Formats: sequence, C-alpha cells, structure tokens
Amino acid sequence: MARPGNKIIQAKLVLLGDMGAGKTSLALRFVKGQFFLNQEPTIGAAFFTQILSLSEATVKFDIWDTAGQERYHSLAPMYYRGAAAAIVVYDISNIDSFVRAKKWVQELQRHGSQKLVMALVANKSDLEPKRKVETEEGEQYAQENGMFYMETSAKTAENINELFYEIAKRLARAF
Ligand code: GDP
Ligand code: MG
Repeated sequence: MARPGNKIIQAKLVLLGDMGAGKTSLALRFVKGQFFLNQEPTIGAAFFTQILSLSEATVKFDIWDTAGQERYHSLAPMYYRGAAAAIVVYDISNIDSFVRAKKWVQELQRHGSQKLVMALVANKSDLEPKRKVETEEGEQYAQENGMFYMETSAKTAENINELFYEIAKRLARAF
C-alpha cells in the first residue's frame, strides 16, 4: 500500500549496450534474482516489470530489453520513446564493448528525452583479473555525459540492487 503523500511513478527503463555485455543478465538478476552462465542472446522476455519502494516514492519499472537487435548497432525509435531512464552496459573485460557503449550513449542523446536518468554500467566486475577498462575511464566518460557510473556483476549480484535504487531515487527527485 502506498503511504499518503507517497508518489507512484511508472517509469520506462531501457537497456542498451552491445551483445554480450550483460543486459539480459542484469535485468534477470534484478527482477528474478537469477543468473545463467549461458544466457541465450536472443531469448528472454524482452520486457520485465519490477517495483521498488522508497520512502519518498514507489517506482514501477517497465524494463525494456533487446531481443538481439543490438547486433545491428541501432534500435527502433519506439524502443527509446517515452523512456524515463536508461542503462548503458559494457563488459569491463572487453574494450570493444566500452568503445561501443559510447556509441550507444550517442544514440541515446539523439533519440532519448532531454531529462533522461542515465546510468553507465561497467558490468562483470567479478572478472577483475581480466579487466581491460579502468574504473577511471568509465567514471570520467559518465561524468562528461551527465550519467552516473556504477560497477556491477550480474553473476555475484554486486551493486545490482544499488543500481536500480539509485535510478529510482533520481526518478523520484525528477518527477
Ligand atoms: P546481453 O547480450 O547484453 O543481453 O548479455 P547477456 O545477459 O546475454 O550475457 C552475455 C554473457 O555474459 C552470458 O554468458 C552471461 O552469463 C555472461 N554474463 C552476464 N553478466 C555477467 C557478469 O556480471 N559476470 C560474468 N562473469 N558473466 C556475465
Ligand atoms: Mg540480451
């Protein structure tokens, strides 16, 4: 039950990033608490919902995931339409995924709304020994582009709830 004065915010959240970065895994970890080492690239709901309750608001997330269309390096405008928040994901063990994450940010800036809450997510933090993208690089790029930065692991669940809480808090402030 929502408390008096507690806002209810329905927010479309889009996941962006190259194939294999961990978009589907992040969503599944957050929504279902599950992780699969052999996550199928094109299989999945492509749509998830989850509710987060903060003291100041209740946020109902409609999470849009791709069904593999990111392999063409662009997504249909309807994917971005009406989105209130976006997560751009890359894999810390894959430089290419970071280079392409920047392209996804540019896509977002072209197609998304002005006041989108944007997170840059450095995923697979459990692969620290194989790290190819330094924390500072991600942080700096995020800062320059009005995003907040977070390192996550869908495998160990590190920072997954924190990521969505931070987005919810920023949405509550913006609405
Ligand atoms: P998507 O193409 O961006 O949706 O990426 P997927 O969620 O399908 O993940 C691609 C592969 O990376 C799968 O084999 C996942 O099991 C794996 N994966 C996703 N997140 C992590 C993570 O945090 N750590 C590790 N080690 N593997 C991950
Ligand atoms: Mg996927």
